[in-house]
Amino acid sequence: MLKGRVFNFSAGPSMLPEPVLLKAQEELLVYPGAGASIMEISHRSKVFDEILENAKNSIKKLLNMPDSYKVIFTPGGATMQFSMLAMNFLNGGSADYINTGSWASKAMGEAKKHGNVREAWSGKAENYVRIPKSSELNISADSKYVHFTSNETIQGIEYFSEPEVGDKPLFCDASSDFLSRPIDITKYALIYAGAQKNVGPSGIAVVVIREDLLPLVPEKLPSLLDYRLMVENNSLYNTPSTWSIYIIGLVVKWLLESIGGLEKMEEINKKKADTLYKVIDNSNGFYRGHAQKESRSRMNITFRLPDENLEKEFISKATEADLHGLKGHRSVGGCRASIYNAMPYEGCAALAQFMEDFAQSHG
Ligand code: PMP
Repeated sequence: MLKGRVFNFSAGPSMLPEPVLLKAQEELLVYPGAGASIMEISHRSKVFDEILENAKNSIKKLLNMPDSYKVIFTPGGATMQFSMLAMNFLNGGSADYINTGSWASKAMGEAKKHGNVREAWSGKAENYVRIPKSSELNISADSKYVHFTSNETIQGIEYFSEPEVGDKPLFCDASSDFLSRPIDITKYALIYAGAQKNVGPSGIAVVVIREDLLPLVPEKLPSLLDYRLMVENNSLYNTPSTWSIYIIGLVVKWLLESIGGLEKMEEINKKKADTLYKVIDNSNGFYRGHAQKESRSRMNITFRLPDENLEKEFISKATEADLHGLKGHRSVGGCRASIYNAMPYEGCAALAQFMEDFAQSHG
């Protein structure tokens, strides 16, 4: 770790890989060949065109994407996608949503403004502790798509294989586990992620869309909310967040070249999560994980301590030990360690040690 930096377990914006920050620092004043900073050059310049193409190509490579899929960068983060996908593909019809937690619920809430949203399954009564089996889903015949949230950032539950939805187009909010492990992209019609957890700065989303969906986009949508227009204009219909796309480009290059791709990333992420879950499991009930074991997220480790005062003390002592951002989401309380791609194993090892020591002195 660079001097003065801490292990930041915040849910997002969250840590970026240090080599990415250093590279951005090195190129901040003068981007090679541009004679200026990225933020000062035209989004239609040759230099920026290369940055955009490289970012897209790295994502294509990481996901092993056939040419029938397009990568775009959209403003407004993942929340904007909740609306955008419904305006484009629900548009007065019906769709099925798998309600696994806070973010799936938010996605449904926005979509309801644009059509008939049905819950194919809801984990609400169980307090969102698990991912459903495909056999539990009620998918309707007239559904235009099925939407799921591959990782519930607040509850800390994650899918490790896609829901089986027959021939329905599968839409996915992968905001908090995008590019954290390999997936079979051909199972998806649309997958999107707010960038600020695994791939870059906030305020922008990465969207991968299968091109056969594009003819379904209705006419007369606001231009920036029209997938067809965004694809046709290569994310350059207006002036995009060039800085964010530049950073995303550096992160995906780091994933490809320094980490060695998504299989390697998954191995590291598994080891990181196992290290923390082991402490929870071996704590004789001092730490209580929120999620059922088979649904436990590798990205957001959610847990409680015996009471709220201890939780406060835990979070405050951890902060003193340079382990930041461990407070659970305000809607559910407790503690949460978000350990996205850029969190090094050393950060998880340091937190695991801290947790063991804390349990010993307070248990
Ligand atoms: N979906 C999920 C799974 C998230 O974790 C978040 C952000 N925490 C969002 C959607 C919303 O993202 P944004 O703030 O980029 O709109």
